[in-house]
Amino acid sequence: MIKINISKAKREEVEEKHYQYFKDNFLDKLISLSKVEDSFRDFYRFLLLNIEQIITGRPKELNDVIIKIDNGFPYLSSLFKKGTRQRSGHEKKLINKLNLKNIFNYDAFLKPDPPDWGAYQLTKNLNVNICPYCNRQYIVTYHSEEKKVIRPQLDHFFAKSIYPYLALSLYNLIPSCNICNSRLKRDTEFEYKKYIHPYEEGFGDSMKFSVKIREEKDINNYNDLKYLDFFFGESDEFDIKFKAGKEVNNEFIKKAENNIKVFKLEELYDFHKDNVAELIKKNMIYNKDRIKELYQNFNQLFNSKDDIVRMIVSNYITEDNLDKRVLAKLTKDICEELNLFDYT
Ligand SMILES: [Zn+2]
Repeated sequence: MIKINISKAKREEVEEKHYQYFKDNFLDKLISLSKVEDSFRDFYRFLLLNIEQIITGRPKELNDVIIKIDNGFPYLSSLFKKGTRQRSGHEKKLINKLNLKNIFNYDAFLKPDPPDWGAYQLTKNLNVNICPYCNRQYIVTYHSEEKKVIRPQLDHFFAKSIYPYLALSLYNLIPSCNICNSRLKRDTEFEYKKYIHPYEEGFGDSMKFSVKIREEKDINNYNDLKYLDFFFGESDEFDIKFKAGKEVNNEFIKKAENNIKVFKLEELYDFHKDNVAELIKKNMIYNKDRIKELYQNFNQLFNSKDDIVRMIVSNYITEDNLDKRVLAKLTKDICEELNLFDYT
């Protein structure tokens, strides 16, 4: 899990465009519905009163809207929470009559070539190129001359089947890979207090990858060649697990563990053990002296010894660059845990 990093200026620009899109296309519908005398009028009025918060509110504000609807409109809220499969015929009709799909019209937002704003423009502007949930897949946005569009999927953090009024909310749309969104999370009910929201935080140093040796071997020095076979080819002698930082509060750990479970992170990172084995081998080859030598011989190619390490591990290993390449967090955490490439 890595945090989605967007500059303040970009954030404001995207919020403005997104809200303008809603205003241009759907606000009038909501206004007219809020004027019709029927049993839903109070609900429409509530939505109208809070519309800016619903469309561009931060994750916490979206959660506040959910709580207000739970308390103010308990019957509707319980209907929503039943999800599409468990609603009776009568309840389905009622939900259809409510017409939220036309006000928070996510299908229209997905149209391949919307004039000014839509899913494609949103992901292009956000420029999130690595899936924040798994950090294993590239999710770039690209539009070819033949109008072929490639873009990340947009996961609804709060499932749109349960919270249809959040179907178009900016901070409820998480650019993510197909595996995380469509295969693993699907319509799992994510609650704000139970899962990490990638627009707010990532695992950072609070939850890190860790090498767990299966057999009780006392391995203190990975540079010692007698352990080399251990990390060769058949790498099923160790597992990649997560380890919480020492002073991390329980609430964060629980949320992170829920994310780890839903996105099968430990199971999937098991397929990347060869990367860890490779890092350890590279650490043996590129020792302190070799790094020093490279720095002296090719000083025009590198700004610092950190640059050399970045080239050796073929990845970015600082927190604010984890969104640049797949498996960056794994690389960073393992290098830190095993104290690899220490040139100091
Ligand atoms: Zn993913």
